Amino acid sequence: MSGKMKIVVMKFGGTSVENAASIARTAEIVEGRRARGLTPVVVVSAMAKVTDQLLAAASAAERGDRTGALAISSRLRNRHLDAASALLTGASVASTHMWMEEQFQALDDLLRGLAAVQELTPRTTDLVASYGERLSSRMIGELYSQTSLNGIHVDARTCIVTNSDHGKATPLEEKIEHQLRQHVLPLLEKGHVPVLGGFIGATEKGVTTTLGRGGSDFTGALIGRGLNAHAIEIWTDVNGIMTTDPRVCPDALRVKTISFEEAAELAYFGAKVLHPATILPAVQKNIPVWVLNSKDPSNQGTQITAIARHSRTPFKSIAIKRKLTIIDVVASRMLMTHGYLKAIFDVFNKHKCAVDMVSTSEVSVSLTVDSNDRLAAIAADLSQLADVKYEGRKALICMVGENIRGQRGIAAQVFSAIRHVNVRMISQGASEINMSFMIEEDDVEEAVRSLHQHFFQDPDPEIFDVAARKPLADVPTEASVAAKRS
Ligand code: ASP
Ligand code: MG
Repeated sequence: MSGKMKIVVMKFGGTSVENAASIARTAEIVEGRRARGLTPVVVVSAMAKVTDQLLAAASAAERGDRTGALAISSRLRNRHLDAASALLTGASVASTHMWMEEQFQALDDLLRGLAAVQELTPRTTDLVASYGERLSSRMIGELYSQTSLNGIHVDARTCIVTNSDHGKATPLEEKIEHQLRQHVLPLLEKGHVPVLGGFIGATEKGVTTTLGRGGSDFTGALIGRGLNAHAIEIWTDVNGIMTTDPRVCPDALRVKTISFEEAAELAYFGAKVLHPATILPAVQKNIPVWVLNSKDPSNQGTQITAIARHSRTPFKSIAIKRKLTIIDVVASRMLMTHGYLKAIFDVFNKHKCAVDMVSTSEVSVSLTVDSNDRLAAIAADLSQLADVKYEGRKALICMVGENIRGQRGIAAQVFSAIRHVNVRMISQGASEINMSFMIEEDDVEEAVRSLHQHFFQDPDPEIFDVAARKPLADVPTEASVAAKRS
């Protein structure tokens, strides 16, 4: 449908549009893609932290704190007016300022109304939250229109059609595709760069909705899918996915390519570059997704693909999740009858507490949870069923890689690399692509360094950015010694 055009959806997150300088940088990055013969469609988040502040204003208003709500709005107003002044030139400064003033007047009216009735519905929350992307996308579209990009703002609500589940609406993909063909494709054919806000949409009746927090990636994927894009780029402020946390292991490497499933496992364990569920629409259509750094645009980032490329290094990345608690439930009083596990999980369900890892034996069940303030209550309920012990300050190490599937001896290598560390619980995920185990929080750094050293000593250069590896820390080479002497 897109003819010979190679469409690239470029999504810039909040930190990539946090101020005038960052926004100006996005224009250069988009220009770079055009220079490569690509046809960009730009999706932007709200400026960093703006959505949080809008939601804070809404809840202040709900509490009846009208002054507090309006004060937040006034700070947001100044921030946007200042950015527009810094970015735009000529008559468009005044016209954009005027438009922004109108938006903030409407927002303030809304907040006053909320404060008067002290009531906030999900529908109204979406309306308040939508201002962030409405403001950023319009301002950025205006900036791009003043350059050779020939930018043009498109209100995402005309394209992203959703159901009316406010707060986390479900997109209606066929309708979205239709709207994109109507409203975006003709602009591309005329050589424009369309700029849309992420996160926001509207029902068929035109009521504003949102796709849930962090939803701009989802918008990017929906647009990529709807326009059958050649690629989707998620611009953030990190160089993609790393082999582990570089704060723990300074020689961590960038992972050049990773599968959707691997990225999904890692995201769950806190390596939150993006939530892979949000790029599913693109992955299903085999559109490659790139995670890139707008503060280091020449870095190649990480490519996320539907199918993993073969790697001779078994693991792609080691994720760490700290601050966990292990709960042991020992059925000394009640044998493991059917329904027993259900009874245990019902307790967690009742307290809305997510369980990370489970391991069972004939008489006991061990579970791990994020440390949370419901623990005492959960333990009390569980003790109705069995004896319960719980212990905090645990950490989970999760090693992910499609190439461990069916490989022998990997577990032996893992546990011999950390043989000095006391391992409490082990699980090989049902997905067969992750091995996780629980250790004491104090042992994390040493364990991760040993594992990284073992598995990434000689990493596959096809998969990992080996070229960027710093030469072994400050080991003087003969040449450097000779240079110092002379
Ligand atoms: N601005 C929205 C949020 O902060 C959406 C996004 O940035 O992806 O949740
Ligand atoms: Mg985000």
